[in-house]
Amino acid sequence: MGLIVQKYGGTSVGSLDRIRHVAEKVIETKQQGHDVVVVVSAMSGETNRLVGLVESLAKDPDPREYSVVVSTGEMVSMALLAMCLMESGFPARSYTGAQAQIFTENKCVKARIEGIEPHALKQALQEGIIPVVAGFQGVDSYGNITTLGRGGSDTTAVALAASLEADECQIYTDVDGVYTADPRIVSEARQLSHITFEEMLELASLGAKVLQKRSVELIGKYKVPLRVLSSFHDGPGTLITYEEVAMERPLVSGIAFNRTEAKLSIIGVPDQAGVAAKILTPIGEANIDVDMIVQNKIDDGLTDLSFTVAREDYQKAMSILQKVATSLEAKGVTGDAKIAKISLVGVGMRSHSGVAPKMFQVLGDAGINIQLIATSEIKISVIVDEKYLELAVRALHAAFGLDKEANEEFDPKM
Ligand code: ADP
Ligand code: ASP
Ligand code: MG
Repeated sequence: MGLIVQKYGGTSVGSLDRIRHVAEKVIETKQQGHDVVVVVSAMSGETNRLVGLVESLAKDPDPREYSVVVSTGEMVSMALLAMCLMESGFPARSYTGAQAQIFTENKCVKARIEGIEPHALKQALQEGIIPVVAGFQGVDSYGNITTLGRGGSDTTAVALAASLEADECQIYTDVDGVYTADPRIVSEARQLSHITFEEMLELASLGAKVLQKRSVELIGKYKVPLRVLSSFHDGPGTLITYEEVAMERPLVSGIAFNRTEAKLSIIGVPDQAGVAAKILTPIGEANIDVDMIVQNKIDDGLTDLSFTVAREDYQKAMSILQKVATSLEAKGVTGDAKIAKISLVGVGMRSHSGVAPKMFQVLGDAGINIQLIATSEIKISVIVDEKYLELAVRALHAAFGLDKEANEEFDPKM
C-alpha cells in the first residue's frame, strides 16, 4: 500500500486503444492496493503538430500564446483517460497544470517548476478519485499557462512524486527501460536493470531523450525512487539508483549522442590574454549557450578557437563571430552545422584510465576523424561528422562490450 505516480508518454496514449490499455494498467495498480496519480503526455505527434501550427503563423511566436496552444495536447489526453477510467467504474478527474497548482517561474516557455500545492490532488485521493494530471504545463504567478520544455511531462511526474512523497515514480514509455544506447539506432543495445542517478543525468544531458534532463535533476535533488518501464510489455524496467555498487560497475554504462549542435571556429587570432573572453562574451550576450570549447595555438602569436552551440543558434552565432573576427583581425571563420556529438558515460571511468585512448583508437580504426573532445569525471564526448554518427556509435558499443551481459571485463590493450 502506497502512492505511485505513473507517467504515460505520447506513444503510450497515442490512440484510444492505447488510452484504454493505460486505464487497465492504472486500474491494476489500484487493485493491488496502491493510490495512483497519473500524468499524461499529449497523444504522439500532437505536440509537433501544434508547434507546426504556431510556427507556420509566426516566425518568432509570442511565448504566452505559444504555450496556450501547445499545452492543449495534454488536456485532450487527460480528459480522455479520466473518462475511460470512469467508464470502467473507477472515479477519476482530470487536472490541468494550473488546477493541480503546479507553479512555475514567470517565463512561458521552458519554465521551471518552482513549487506545487497538491491540496486538490490529495483531497481527490482521499475521496477515492484517481487524479489524471496534464504533463508539460504549469501556471505562473500572473495566472499564465506555461510549458516546461519538450519532454517536460517527465518533470511534471517527478515534481508531483516529490511533492506528494510518493513511494515510486513510474515513467511508462515505448521502450522497456533505459538501454546502453538508443535501441532504435543500435539494435544490439541492452536494457539496464539499474543505472546510477549521475549516469542518467549525463545520458539525459547528452541526448538520450528517454528522460528529460530536468526530471533527472529533480529526482537527484529529492531522491525520488524512479523506474522507467514499458507500457507495451510487462517487465521490471530500469531502476535509478543513488548508491554506487562498486563491484558491479562496468567501465562504460551507456552511449548517448545528439545531432543538435553546430561547430564554429575562428582562425588565426592574435594570441593575447583575454582573447577567448573577447570572442565568447558577445556570443553569451546574445543568449547563445556555448557547449564545448577548444583553443589551439598554431604558431607564433596566433591561435584558433572552436566551440559548439545549439544548431538553432548557428546562423546568429556565425554572424556575431564574423564581426568579432573583423575587429580582432583574425584570418577567418569557419563553421559546420552537420556534426554529431557522441558520449561515453560511466561511473567506472572514475577509477580506471584508458577509456579515452580506447575510444579514440576505435574511431580511428573506423576511419572517423575526431573534431573536438571534452571530458569530465564520468564522461567523454567527441564531435564527429554527422554522417559517421551511427557507424561510430555501433563501433563503440561493440568495442566496449555493451552488447554483452557481463561487460565489466576491460582490456585496455584491446
Ligand atoms: P515518451 O513519449 O514516452 O516520453 P520519448 O520518445 O520521449 O518517449 O523517449 C523514449 C525514447 O527515447 C525511446 O523511444 C528511444 O528511442 C529514446 N532513447 C534514447 N536513448 C535511449 C536509451 N539510452 N534508452 C532508452 N531509450 C532511449
Ligand atoms: N508533449 C510534450 C512533448 O512532446 C511533453 C512530453 O511529451 O513530455 O514534448
Ligand atoms: Mg519523453
